[in-house]
Amino acid sequence: MPVSVFDLFSIGVGPSSSHTVGPMRAGAAFAAALPTAGVVGVRVDLYGSLASTGHGHGTLGAVAAGLTGADPETVDPDRMALDLEELERAGALRLANGTTVPFRLADIVLHPLTMLPRHPNGMRLRASGADGSVLADETYYSIGGGFITRDGETDAAEVAEAAIPVDDHVPHPFSSGAELLVECARSGLPVSGIALANEVALDTSEAAVRERLLGIHTVMEQCVERSVRRTGTLPGGLDVRRRSATWYEQLVRDDPDHDPLFAMEWVNLVAMAVNEENATGGRVVTAPTNGAAGIIPAVLSYALTYVPEITADRRDDAVVRFLLTAGAVGSIYKERASISGAEVGCQGEVGSAASMAAAGLAEVLGGTPEQVENAAEIAMEHNLGLTCDPIGGLVQIPCIERNAIAANKAINAARMALRGDGVHHVSLDQVVETMRQTGADMSSKYKETAMGGLAVNVPLC
Ligand code: SF4
Repeated sequence: MPVSVFDLFSIGVGPSSSHTVGPMRAGAAFAAALPTAGVVGVRVDLYGSLASTGHGHGTLGAVAAGLTGADPETVDPDRMALDLEELERAGALRLANGTTVPFRLADIVLHPLTMLPRHPNGMRLRASGADGSVLADETYYSIGGGFITRDGETDAAEVAEAAIPVDDHVPHPFSSGAELLVECARSGLPVSGIALANEVALDTSEAAVRERLLGIHTVMEQCVERSVRRTGTLPGGLDVRRRSATWYEQLVRDDPDHDPLFAMEWVNLVAMAVNEENATGGRVVTAPTNGAAGIIPAVLSYALTYVPEITADRRDDAVVRFLLTAGAVGSIYKERASISGAEVGCQGEVGSAASMAAAGLAEVLGGTPEQVENAAEIAMEHNLGLTCDPIGGLVQIPCIERNAIAANKAINAARMALRGDGVHHVSLDQVVETMRQTGADMSSKYKETAMGGLAVNVPLC
């Protein structure tokens, strides 16, 4: 069952798709199902990675905002921080069902050393009645990229609550790179054509798909434009300086005509601008996660700026083909491995995003499906083993720079693939499976717990 491209590119808020967007969706889903009368208390238990890095990722504010009915796509990004402060002062929360209950941050209990069996990002939400009875008791899992699932649902039902439902009745079903290539060969369509036909089959039209993808790209661009106007330090206490505003000024001055010699620096800028905005809790496009949200906008920006064939009248078409191709590759990672740093480390986030971006670029550079598959494979092959060890549990170091490095790696992967004929030794499916196995073997210290790597070797000031 292919995952919709719109599940992989969703509009949300920073700093983390699994730790912010997913918990907000879980809180909203839980509150929406509560009875309209009789609820006098709510308690939230966060487990594993959500508990160990939840403070740094804004999880507590996100789940509380979700309980009030906030939606990641529409919530005011400034509202979550206010919620936390106001929550303590008010000592009460107005739930999505209209009920106001006593609630303080102490009602969100952290269990960093307890991993629920199904996934490292577990959340249990309970509502109680006046006589102490439990009116609702649900366990959710934030499984990466803002997707949530609930105990009692099968893995096949792992869908974001707000996502478009995907069924099996698409014209070109695929769940692996090999199947995708077979569909391309059978139909004569490029990878983007396969993805487009499948999206259109999901009860919409080609025009609607295109319009929605262009809207997603607009949000990506707006994110960069906002970020390069903001200076100062990022929140969270690490005192990490925002760099994109200064770099933007310098690049505009030093490279007004976009000399290709400066291409790498513009790619760095876009990737870092997105991730600085994400670290601030701003509005970003999850692509396919928030921590890795800068890579696809940066590589897409490179394509639109430096590929001579993408003239102004072909720009929209290039955006659509790029995102569809990237989405097709992302769906393979989602189905066969994971895009969750808590499950497989950063290779699942930054590695998957680089692989998706390389595929998108290869397609708009005119690559064959085999070359597109090769580009995706190269980009992941050289991100295998990448750990997740954010300092202070914040999505800042190494995350922000890592997006810039990975974006340039993705461009290189696409360029390398385009120099070949698509025939290569390691298939995309083999590298996806290697990523999955490597993630399964990886110590939990390196899977979004901030208990190893840079997180323990760089002292917090
Ligand atoms: S290190 Fe990678 S996986 Fe971990 S929070 Fe940062 S971007 Fe996400």
